[in-house]
Amino acid sequence: MMNQYLLLTPGPLSTSQGVREAMLKDWCTWDEEYNLGIVQHIRRRLVELATSQPGYTAVLMQGSGTASVEAVLSTVISPQHKLLIIDNGAYGARMADIARYHKLNHSLYKVSETSLPNIEEIERHLQQNSGITHVAMVHCETTTGMLNPAREVAALAHQYGKVMILDAMSSFGGVPMDIGDWHVDYLISSANKCIQGVPGFGFVIARQSLLQKCAGQARSLSLDLYDQWHCMENQQGKWRFTSPTHVVRAFAQALTELDQEGGIAARHARYQQNQWLLCQGMQELGFRTLLPFALHSPIITSFYSPEQAGYNFKAFYQRLKEQGFVIYPGKVSDADCFRIGNIGEVYPQDIQRLLSAIASSRYWLD
Ligand SMILES: *Cc1c(COP(=O)(O)O)cnc(C)c1O
Repeated sequence: MMNQYLLLTPGPLSTSQGVREAMLKDWCTWDEEYNLGIVQHIRRRLVELATSQPGYTAVLMQGSGTASVEAVLSTVISPQHKLLIIDNGAYGARMADIARYHKLNHSLYKVSETSLPNIEEIERHLQQNSGITHVAMVHCETTTGMLNPAREVAALAHQYGKVMILDAMSSFGGVPMDIGDWHVDYLISSANKCIQGVPGFGFVIARQSLLQKCAGQARSLSLDLYDQWHCMENQQGKWRFTSPTHVVRAFAQALTELDQEGGIAARHARYQQNQWLLCQGMQELGFRTLLPFALHSPIITSFYSPEQAGYNFKAFYQRLKEQGFVIYPGKVSDADCFRIGNIGEVYPQDIQRLLSAIASSRYWLD
């Protein structure tokens, strides 16, 4: 069965035939083959992909990626703690929303969506607010496509003795990192981004010695990260509540396909090539990127909407969809943009075809 269109979005994204076929079988959540065989395998593989250092463990959590971010913040931050949130986009702002909902002690370091967080300013913030115990930031800010200086901020957090929480939702699996070397204590991502599974659960890779201290701290039953981990750890991969069995199987297949591709380094190289081709080609067609090239991630790119009279996103979107490509609306607050993602089952030849489609769709401008 052919897909009707290629998703050029930050997820859910176009998946392989193999990943989709893995969902054709029904599984019992109590079955050993499922829990011991698949869930525990996934948890081990995720830790191996995240770091070569010991001391980390993985927890899978039902829901979209935001549920896992919320599970971390609302479980890890106790009333004695204070969280510094770095916000330069919609996903940083979402962490601040989560902090408000749960009434977490927190402070905000906010810069514009097109600016890099400034390391010296963050350091000053840490020096002036000694009550801060945790720092949270987004790695690839999917709002703009900016790759934030996560490693530098995590090093700073480590230097000042703070716990580091990284929303690496749209980068984990597509950008090489070793969270042990980087001093990241909690990394959050989800099934339907760079690992190229389907949506349905998120996951957290946590420093076990820290997570173990979080018993009884959660502000929500279903998002109790500690309890979810404790159950998976002590009952051989068992989820506390109904697990998304089909999604989990698809994810296991996606992990196998990541290995077959050559691991994260090879996937990163493909994404990078996709993104370079896209930027180069779009520039040749007269489009401008929102960010300077040096701030781009290999994940998704924001382009200014054309200034020609008669352009509207809806018509542009529709024309491209008819030719088999789905692009993404902009999310930046103060600039008129659209976004094109290049992750998932997307190859350089697909980007070439997209560029031809855009070139031949120019009549939407009249
Ligand atoms: C996709 C994404 C999320 C989670 O979004 P959901 O819609 O809840 O899956 C969080 N942070 C970032 C940076 C993302 O790209």
